[in-house]
Amino acid sequence: MRQMIIGNWKMHGLRKAGTDLASAITTEIGTILKERDVVLAPPFTLLHHLFPLLSEHGVGLGAQDCHAEIEGAYTGDISAGMLADSGVSHVILGHSERREHHHEYNALIKRKVMRAREFGLCPVVCVGESGRQKEENLAEEWLGKQITECLPPDFDGIVAYEPIWAIGTGKAATQQDIESRLTFLHDALARHLETDDKSMRVLYGGSVKPEDAASILAVPGVGGVLVGGASLSARSFLGIARAG
Ligand code: PEP
Repeated sequence: MRQMIIGNWKMHGLRKAGTDLASAITTEIGTILKERDVVLAPPFTLLHHLFPLLSEHGVGLGAQDCHAEIEGAYTGDISAGMLADSGVSHVILGHSERREHHHEYNALIKRKVMRAREFGLCPVVCVGESGRQKEENLAEEWLGKQITECLPPDFDGIVAYEPIWAIGTGKAATQQDIESRLTFLHDALARHLETDDKSMRVLYGGSVKPEDAASILAVPGVGGVLVGGASLSARSFLGIARAG
């Protein structure tokens, strides 16, 4: 399976800085794309603007959320159809920052996943336990619930395992932790989707840096990485994308 490297720019990037970053990444992306798939998820305001550059270089365009409805009186929201119309190929859904700051919950995320599929977008669904759940040994129960409640039975997108305690903290999970969680998630996915196929892409995300990317990308079963902070520097992001 080809691994995927996704850069989640979060709420960073005015037009000039975003264009410069995307240009610096695409200039050097050719050799990386022989081995791995790359997607950049800038803020909504840059999607339309960056699409020509990214598509010309074979880099996917990702969004960081979409609304669950097709259209309507939802001031400030963006629909899956609008994303598709802007050239978006992937959409990150259920990120822990949206669960926390926008009170997103599993059933809503499932509706967004289905809407994204309806418009031809590949959903990248984030799951992950808090530090407290980890300490109290409740992580697997929580992750299992997120899988069954966020994913429709015909789900064919990507899952990103993002332990909340590792996001933006500079403290990535260990190789052993990632491997055991990925095994759990692949099993839970196979059960939920009623399939023997355990090849669905499950990415790891949480403080991935160039210096530990090779060991993370070597974890058995890892489908790639979702990169937040380190995706804001071309040097770091490229270092991660070519690691190993
Ligand atoms: C993220 O927000 O998806 C993420 C993984 O962030 P960071 O790499 O900064 O921990």
